[in-house]
Amino acid sequence: MKLTAKIKLLPTSEQAQNLLDTLVRANQACHALSEIAWENKQFKQFGLHKLAYYPIKEQFGLSAQMIVRCIAKVVDAYKLDKKSKREFRPTGAIAYDSRIISYKPAKNTVSIWTLTGRVAIPYIGGEHNEALLKFQQGESDLFYRKGKWFLLATCDVPDEQTSEIDSILGVDLGIVDLATDSDGQRFTGSEIRKYRKKRASIRASVQAKKNAKASKSTIKNTRRLLKRISKRERTTSTIINHTISKRLVEKAQSSNRGIALENLKGIRDRTVPRLRKKQRREHSSWPFYQLRQFITYKAQLNGVPVMVIPPAYTSKTCHECNHLGHRSGKSFTCTNCGNCTDADHNGALNIAAVGASVTWPENSTLICFLHRS
Ligand SMILES: [Zn+2]
Repeated sequence: MKLTAKIKLLPTSEQAQNLLDTLVRANQACHALSEIAWENKQFKQFGLHKLAYYPIKEQFGLSAQMIVRCIAKVVDAYKLDKKSKREFRPTGAIAYDSRIISYKPAKNTVSIWTLTGRVAIPYIGGEHNEALLKFQQGESDLFYRKGKWFLLATCDVPDEQTSEIDSILGVDLGIVDLATDSDGQRFTGSEIRKYRKKRASIRASVQAKKNAKASKSTIKNTRRLLKRISKRERTTSTIINHTISKRLVEKAQSSNRGIALENLKGIRDRTVPRLRKKQRREHSSWPFYQLRQFITYKAQLNGVPVMVIPPAYTSKTCHECNHLGHRSGKSFTCTNCGNCTDADHNGALNIAAVGASVTWPENSTLICFLHRS
């Protein structure tokens, strides 16, 4: 499974200058390469290499491998179309491969090629990224933003030998309770709701000021505040997603269960229209994709099998009798058997049942469920 680790470099001021010089020089080389490609109508890796490698090496003093990366960047840029000459930002991101970068996760340092040779630079990434880095493989993008340095590293996480499982833990993702499992446990994000409410009210106030033609500086200040809040909100939602996914995976692992999740498309399709406008604003932009990604990779790291269930019917079907019922807000009512229950818990039970029917088809009466969707 390919995942990307994002780490922040902590260079000394001398190293930072060195990185900047290297990035600028590499982009200048890309610029020159683009010119050669454009003039000669040569947009293929091999052809451009043959044409430009030596002159560029001489002119820019980059390592052989760095020039190969620059040629790849230029060729990539022309892949979209060849109708206009490509230009490159002076500090655009540059890809490093294993010949010009290596990670030392035990020491939290990275050894990276620069104009003055290899330098060892410390980094931080947090628990998630540092765990991923053990599986770093292939390219890393060095990028620079607002005086700070980052690496985006491609990691190939091996599928751990999956353990024997006895049953399935179904997980329903929804925007009122972020996750509900088939045991009936709910995972909510009350903290994030507070942020969302605050942000919604600030956004409304920006709009009001705009309508009332407030001074430009007032609007600017409010905008800045809004930006700061959404950044903090993103950090908080990432932490919440880590916590929820960790707890779910630990629960499944300790009880010999696999995890069944609903295909994400379901969340927006079925939950959004049900909620009132105000509620929708507070919850609908939750990073569910990230939550599912966290559950999947943590499960894989721990040998817990994960399966994805198509969403059709899981929320509308009664878990007790398999008839279609009514879902209204958080409650589910079955017109057939009278079952009345929490809608997300009912959904999670259905997801678990479909997951079990996929895992042990010989014991299942539910397999038709999958074909209906
Ligand atoms: Zn029923």
